[in-house]
Amino acid sequence: MMESIYMDYAATTPLDDAVLDAMLPWLRSEYGNPSSPYAAARKVRAAIDEARAQVADAIGAGPSEVYFTSGGTEALNLAVKGVAFAQRERGRDHVVVSAVEHRAVLEAAAFLERQGFAVAHVPVDRYGVASAEAVAEAMRPTTALVAVMHANNEIGTIQPVEAIGRLTKERGVPFLVDAVQSAGLLEVNVDDIGCDLLAVSAHKLYGPKGVGALYVRRGTKVEPLLHGGGQERGLRAGTENVAGIVGLAAALRAAVANRREAALALTALRDRLIEDIRRRVPDATLNGHPTRRLPNNVHFSFPGINGESLLMNLDLAGVAASSGSACTSGSLEASHVLLALGLPKEMAAAGLRLTLGKHTSREDVAAVADIVAETIHRLRGRAVAAARILHGE
Ligand code: PLP
Repeated sequence: MMESIYMDYAATTPLDDAVLDAMLPWLRSEYGNPSSPYAAARKVRAAIDEARAQVADAIGAGPSEVYFTSGGTEALNLAVKGVAFAQRERGRDHVVVSAVEHRAVLEAAAFLERQGFAVAHVPVDRYGVASAEAVAEAMRPTTALVAVMHANNEIGTIQPVEAIGRLTKERGVPFLVDAVQSAGLLEVNVDDIGCDLLAVSAHKLYGPKGVGALYVRRGTKVEPLLHGGGQERGLRAGTENVAGIVGLAAALRAAVANRREAALALTALRDRLIEDIRRRVPDATLNGHPTRRLPNNVHFSFPGINGESLLMNLDLAGVAASSGSACTSGSLEASHVLLALGLPKEMAAAGLRLTLGKHTSREDVAAVADIVAETIHRLRGRAVAAARILHGE
């Protein structure tokens, strides 16, 4: 079978060999339960403590502010619902989220709405930016939480989180930042951002799937969602995913060490891919901010092209790409992110996201630009031929 070119690093990344090596002992031989009272278990506990310190260090936090979860989705659910429930006791029942958040945040907020909270969705500009002014406008005296992601998973737009952090601090409202897409590629420091909660996920930065972490600033009240054995200082019960936690720490440390060079290299490849596609398909429109975007994100709309058949044809031609968010790709459902940019419904269902990573080469970029352009031209040719037949020409 032909080897396909992987351009979907925003959906997930391959596991790094060094990360796998760091994880293996905790799967193979070190099986003690970290909560047990004997030496073998203390060794496992020490591995978790070390991983916690490493994750904390990577984001400029203290170890006691890091809680391990089963991934980004759980970290975000814990933050959104846990903070809202804790704040309700203080009479706060209003949650502010940007319109372009990941579904983990939007659906958690929708759940809160069903529990009697009011939810405000902050509109974005045509590049997908939720400004601090727009966030300020959405806030009320009863706002319990503000959630604005660091960088968008579909269109790559980087949000002005530092400005929003200053605003929320001034108003004394907890601020949640989803750094799932950014942690491997951009500087992420909780004090520089000024957030109170921040979520990361291992499988977006060459770590394993099913493990993530939530940073909670000291003093921020969060109600647990999982009750049980009191692990993670009572905030997230359940026997720890030791190998996953060690893998997350190893992956995050490696990402931080290589971030600057990786971002520079990816930006050059990204801009080349954008330029190549634009040259070959002049009416292609780039979605997201032209410069304030993730170094590995390319996202286009092509007028008159059906997004689903584009992805299918790219798959047949050996390109693994996506329409944007992994859970809606393969269906014609319009993307909430593209709709929030103001794109008409047909265009919002026809996006193409190409995301690059550490194994992407210049040859891959050139080949994908060729394949995308040829596929678009072929699909358009077919549409013209079909229209001719329809009109009896
Ligand atoms: N937030 C963003 C921005 C994401 O891209 C994703 C993954 O697609 C998530 C949250 C969910 O993370 P996980 O897959 O670890 O549950």
